[in-house]
Amino acid sequence: MTILLTTLNARYAHASLGLRYLLANMGALQAQTQLHEFVIGARSTDVVEKILGYRQEGEKLIVGFGVYIWNVVEITQIVAVLKRVAPEVVIVLGGPEVSHETGDQEIIRLADYVITGWGDISFPELCAQILNGPQPLMKVHAGKQPPMNDIKLPYQLYTDQDIRHRTLYVEASRGCPFKCEFCLSALDKTAWPFDIDVFLAEMESLYQRGARLFKFVDRTFNLNIKTSLKIMQFFLDKLEAAPHDPVFAHFEVVPDHLPDALKEGIQKFPDGTLQFEIGIQSFNPAVQALISRKQNNDKAAENIRWLTTQSHAHLHVDLIAGLPGETMDSFAQGFNHLVSLKPHEIQFGILKRLRGTPIIRHTEAYQLRFDPQPPYTILANQDIPFTDMQRLVRFARYWDMVANSGRFANTLPVMLADDPFARFMAFSDWIFANTDATHRIALDRLAALVGQWLQLQGMSAADCKTLLASDYAGNAQHQQGSSHKGQNLSQEKGKATPQRQRQHMVA
Ligand code: SF4
Repeated sequence: MTILLTTLNARYAHASLGLRYLLANMGALQAQTQLHEFVIGARSTDVVEKILGYRQEGEKLIVGFGVYIWNVVEITQIVAVLKRVAPEVVIVLGGPEVSHETGDQEIIRLADYVITGWGDISFPELCAQILNGPQPLMKVHAGKQPPMNDIKLPYQLYTDQDIRHRTLYVEASRGCPFKCEFCLSALDKTAWPFDIDVFLAEMESLYQRGARLFKFVDRTFNLNIKTSLKIMQFFLDKLEAAPHDPVFAHFEVVPDHLPDALKEGIQKFPDGTLQFEIGIQSFNPAVQALISRKQNNDKAAENIRWLTTQSHAHLHVDLIAGLPGETMDSFAQGFNHLVSLKPHEIQFGILKRLRGTPIIRHTEAYQLRFDPQPPYTILANQDIPFTDMQRLVRFARYWDMVANSGRFANTLPVMLADDPFARFMAFSDWIFANTDATHRIALDRLAALVGQWLQLQGMSAADCKTLLASDYAGNAQHQQGSSHKGQNLSQEKGKATPQRQRQHMVA
């Protein structure tokens, strides 16, 4: 073995699609290539020891690392140790985190080679050069983008173990035609589809092998409606043929584009089988214009309302705090508007400065101050000082625990009353002042704190007890034991729906 593909995934349940693409496209070098995934938090010396276990006497070892915003700090340490103890090992980096601003990154200084952008054919080409010569002259190589039909699909590389225990990431297309300036996909300028029939044949094979949970990473599933309908029909056929053993599919969609044909298809999905991730990011037209995000807000709101009232789809809707031009007040208005549309989850993100994204053009005008360490979260801007940004960060964390968890379904509307943002912010400020914690608050303690808060707002102790009991009485232990953010990937019959979605569906 001469080539090892590796990365650190954020969780064990996340199987790396990128590494599997590289392995599938190694061509003549595939027999000499292996894949080994680690999980964030592993000790760097342990990782290095395992990597060096792949060395074979008299042979060169090339290690290809997939570098992302969530693992760049740890992979930098690993590469540093690796280069100390085995400088002869050839290190090749790839992935979004090393595809831009290559001149000022420590990890790139430490590595031998970097491939920016697409690695599917450039990585095996570079490996062949390293192994057989002539040795590559440049350190940084711009990845070539091949025709989509030339890329071998990687799905057969998901093992039976992956299928049983991990999220299966799949993609029917790459890229995005939109240009939202905070997003790396803004650089794509367009989307490139894979051959849909070839892709669906791969999905069929995964399904036959037992896969029931499919997470599409396409940036905009509903871009080409004909293709979207074909994909949805694939899943509807499976659901019809085996209703007792349902599949679950997750798609990212743009909110203002749901033609009737798509709605008809969506309505056919039963409870617990379909999830949409919808990016709203901001309802503020001035902010949208500043960040080049094109969105028809009325249409988007109408479609979210339609989805929540006329379909069984589980909705996870994204908002971003900290965008240039967004004040606390305008963010609060957007948040309240979104709450009124009643999606199952509101993912409240804080702006990050991803390497290569055009958002930095606003840095001076809007006084954008980002953390220099990954994930480069915004700390302050012209409209939101650091202390308020901190309050927003905590709001997001508590919102996840109380609202997105689905554990306080009856209590939450009482907490939010007629001004969700202001009321929840007051709760967030209070709970932080009283606990000094935003993590590791056990469910029983959280419920007690929520009850205490409601009493401070004037509710009687007896009413609080009844209200909270209606949400989780008798279930606390069980729910506490389940993963909060992660998904229960049980593939038992009828259990494809991730835990959190099930929580919302029964709420
Ligand atoms: S935020 Fe979504 S729509 Fe905008 S560029 Fe990124 S992927 Fe495309």
